[in-house]
Amino acid sequence: MGLLDKTIVRVLPAVPRPVVRRLSARYIAGPTLADARRVVGELNAKGMLATVDVLGEEVGRPDEARAIAKAYLDVLDAIDAGGLRANVSVKLTALGLKLDPALARANVEAIAARGTFVRIDMEDSSTTDATLALYRELRERGRDNLGVVLQAALKRTVGDAEGLAGANVRLCKGIYVEPPELAFRDYEAVRVNFVRALDTLFDGGCYVGVATHDEWLVEQALRAVSARGLRPDEYEFQMLLGVQTRLADRLVAEGHRLRVYVPFGSKWYEYSLRRLQENPKVAGYIAADTLNRLVPGR
Ligand SMILES: Cc1cc2nc3c(=O)[nH]c(=O)nc-3n(C[C@H](O)[C@H](O)[C@H](O)COP(=O)(O)OP(=O)(O)OC[C@H]3O[C@@H](n4cnc5c(N)ncnc54)[C@H](O)[C@@H]3O)c2cc1C
Repeated sequence: MGLLDKTIVRVLPAVPRPVVRRLSARYIAGPTLADARRVVGELNAKGMLATVDVLGEEVGRPDEARAIAKAYLDVLDAIDAGGLRANVSVKLTALGLKLDPALARANVEAIAARGTFVRIDMEDSSTTDATLALYRELRERGRDNLGVVLQAALKRTVGDAEGLAGANVRLCKGIYVEPPELAFRDYEAVRVNFVRALDTLFDGGCYVGVATHDEWLVEQALRAVSARGLRPDEYEFQMLLGVQTRLADRLVAEGHRLRVYVPFGSKWYEYSLRRLQENPKVAGYIAADTLNRLVPGR
């Protein structure tokens, strides 16, 4: 990212919400479940799988956590009714982790009880231990349709990967800003740790969801897959809705499984900020949007 982009990223929270909403529209299916259903249908028609995320993060009251769990049950009904090739991704803080871990556990269990695969997203480092502990506990109790996420930016990740033999793990770089004692900040160091974690997971017999838009990492993953002679149903690539669509199309054309993360719902703001902060062209987009408003019809 250039200097201007980095500056814009810092001031993004001061950008008016309507501008954030316009610029981030490509990253979100829309406000309703019908929007998510439509987008998943379109992805399926292109040979892609999906994972559906009900937008929303840390909640303040138990009834909000229960409402999010209920929204996920509605998503699962829609997946079944539409014969969609999709699973769901949940955030434990949205299901009540910080209010009461037992509430989050009960909510995850209710969602997983439907049988469709449930991915537990990984949030900031204050939740890593609790998230991995809950995942392990449910797995030990026989829940085999659950998966977890590791973040290559965290220094602990290769160790965590060693302890997850046989699991279903999404590996991503990690989006949260973490202190330097806990996380690599350097771009190349994160990449190197990603490859180490990926090798560890594959060597431990994990099904890995390789979640990145970084073409260099995609090439490393393809090399790791081919070195081990893995079949296309023994791993998958994952990307976010609206990002690197050409790379996604290429992977599908080459016969790899590709799953797209499809967020929907009314709580779009925090997710949108994170996506814009990662968009290398964000400064240009904001400048163009501002010009369009100043000079309509330009
Ligand atoms: C399916 C999926 C699930 C995820 N789940 C989690 C999770 O549970 N926890 C977590 O902490 N993080 C999660 N992430 C986010 C992830 O950690 C990274 O923040 C994000 O994917 C960007 O890292 P990257 O590997 O794509 O590399 P980057 O170096 O950030 O991006 C590589 C290239 O992709 C393009 N690109 C990336 N982002 C954008 C964008 N927003 N707009 C336009 N172009 C872009 C650019 O060309 C960029 O140069 C997830 C990511 C994916 C794909």
